[in-house]
Amino acid sequence: MINFCCEIFKSYNNQEMDRELYPNIKIIKVPPDKFNEGRNLYRYLLVCGFIKDKPPFVSMRHCPFCGTNLFEFYTSDNYINGNYDDF
Ligand SMILES: [Zn+2]
Repeated sequence: MINFCCEIFKSYNNQEMDRELYPNIKIIKVPPDKFNEGRNLYRYLLVCGFIKDKPPFVSMRHCPFCGTNLFEFYTSDNYINGNYDDF
């Protein structure tokens, strides 16, 4: 059981809505390297759901719905729902 900052974020993240009609929220993990060692490697993307290949996205720092700091809240691999290589 994992917690979300708010129900709206959860619904976009869980793909409960039609992913081709609505933006999706993807949580990905950047591969570690010597430049980001020791930093938060998760990234929080608002993604155009209707574009399949290399979709445009906005990288978010705070939840657009409730204002939660995403870098402080989502810090577990359990939340990953996308692949770094897809973006
Ligand atoms: Zn939220």
